[in-house]
Amino acid sequence: MRQTFNFGHFIPISTVDWHGRCVSVIFFRGCQLRCPYCQNHAYITGSSEMDIDDMKSQISKTKPFISAVVFSGGEPTLQRDALIDLAGFARSGSLAVGLETNGFGADVVEEMLDKGLLDKVFLDVKAPLDEPKQYSIVTGINVDAGSKAAENTARTLDKCIRAGIELEVRTTVFRGLVGAEDVRKIFQYLDECECDSGNLTYAIQQGLPDNTLDMQDIEKFSRQEVLDMATAIKPVNLKDIRIRTIENGEERIV
Ligand code: SF4
Repeated sequence: MRQTFNFGHFIPISTVDWHGRCVSVIFFRGCQLRCPYCQNHAYITGSSEMDIDDMKSQISKTKPFISAVVFSGGEPTLQRDALIDLAGFARSGSLAVGLETNGFGADVVEEMLDKGLLDKVFLDVKAPLDEPKQYSIVTGINVDAGSKAAENTARTLDKCIRAGIELEVRTTVFRGLVGAEDVRKIFQYLDECECDSGNLTYAIQQGLPDNTLDMQDIEKFSRQEVLDMATAIKPVNLKDIRIRTIENGEERIV
């Protein structure tokens, strides 16, 4: 029987989605969160079915030019079967697999880790994980769902750390929504995690109002303000902290 998935977009070749690698990026459509600063809002709702075999053909065509496939969205873990099928296909072709996730699908991440299908996870930690109300505001959902999102994200984080794979935790900062104090709390949480710090990167990303659905009037944090957030935190265990801004691109701070 023909297997399909709810498809968002395909970038055959990207050099910016996995530092040091040339990758294909597959965007899955659909997301359970509604972050007001979302830059990928075109992919969070709607339906656009694509044949999984056609997607595999696209991966095969670009395989000579890439070393990995990154699954993004939307939220890829919402479509467990397609995600696992495509990740397995990439793996069978000796490609590395990366997953960009909001952390809600902790069970799917755990299953993929158990099956050895993940080489790197890019995990959004959108607000302090022990503050459900703030998590719900930043993710645009009600407090109960926000509490669940924070809890599941903490589980996903813990599973990735225990698996010892490469992990990049990301926080998007956005004026009036997520700022320096949130970054400090998230950073403290990460710094206290018992992990091999060599596998963990923390990236602070400048949210861009122009790309949002209805927050274009908010002034973005400047590169200097984002840099100040990164340099204000005093790492003990973490050895790789980065900022990403429209002004200077990616900069490694520690
Ligand atoms: S989790 Fe990501 S894709 Fe989903 S609404 Fe938030 S920013 Fe957008």
